[in-house]
Amino acid sequence: MSRVTVFTLGGTISARGGDASRMTGAEVLAGLGAPDVEVELRDVRRLPSSSLSFEDLVALAHEVREAVAGGSGVVVVQGTDTLEETAFLLDLLCVTSEPIVVTGAMRRPDLPGADGPANLAAALAVAADPGCRDLGVLVVLADEIHAARLARKTHTTSVATFGSPGAGPLGMVVEGEPRILLRPTGTSAIHPLRLDPAVRVALITLTVGDRGELLEAVDSRFDGLVVAAFGAGHVPTWLVEPLAELADRIPVVLASRTGAGATLSRTYRGPGSEYDLLHRGLVPAGPLDPAKARLLLHALLSSGAKGPAGYDRPGITAAFAHVNGTGLA
Ligand code: ASP
Repeated sequence: MSRVTVFTLGGTISARGGDASRMTGAEVLAGLGAPDVEVELRDVRRLPSSSLSFEDLVALAHEVREAVAGGSGVVVVQGTDTLEETAFLLDLLCVTSEPIVVTGAMRRPDLPGADGPANLAAALAVAADPGCRDLGVLVVLADEIHAARLARKTHTTSVATFGSPGAGPLGMVVEGEPRILLRPTGTSAIHPLRLDPAVRVALITLTVGDRGELLEAVDSRFDGLVVAAFGAGHVPTWLVEPLAELADRIPVVLASRTGAGATLSRTYRGPGSEYDLLHRGLVPAGPLDPAKARLLLHALLSSGAKGPAGYDRPGITAAFAHVNGTGLA
């Protein structure tokens, strides 16, 4: 029988009644009946996922690494609000062949049509299946299997909220069995990264008429910045100079706020275009969404991409090119 270590962190799947209390990990697992895999439970947190801290996630990654090193598959159960960030962070911090699956629920366990037990059963099936090795960290909900680097919560209430915009799921769980249709081109990190909670990376989403006050606030408070820019990587002309000045001192990653598709590099060339910004030292996020770009930059800065001589722009650019499958820049 396959072995799966289940880490429970709280979230809707454990939010019976909807008040601040959360069910224990054992109570969450009890909803499953008798699974046909050997389960080892670690009840690590009982929180809404919006209240998970970097310290919580670093401790989780440490325990997940230990579990996979012992040959166990892993299921992480948490709230869906930040599920995609936990999954991508684990993808950067725990590079392994063993399946690591993150799941949760959209409907409380006391409401009609609660989806927690079905999601948990599907996640266990994926984590226990040798055919799901070497896929990187996976997100499994509503019988869909998504790659962590692509998965996003796309709807506030739908049980089919998770998607991989611009791509699609890697597979499905059908009659309780995982069916893998596609395999990712590589790992999310060139080698396993670490995360130092003390590193500070800001994420600023631009909106029309932005006067740059938030960019000014970044100065000296942050070690890196992700700009969720318009369209394929565009900013107002008057923000080019402040961004270029920041990029002289700290890494500034250019992402898109649209929710799908890659930043461009040479289609538009005027002031404030992607071409202009990349030539002024910004690093392209490619198709990585802003929240995930922030985590990758944070992990890179925690893993030696920053030193007394400044930051390693070529190394950071190469790491973003790697996760996006575009080869070394
Ligand atoms: N959806 C929330 C979460 O991500 C629900 C909660 O407060 O448990 O955790």
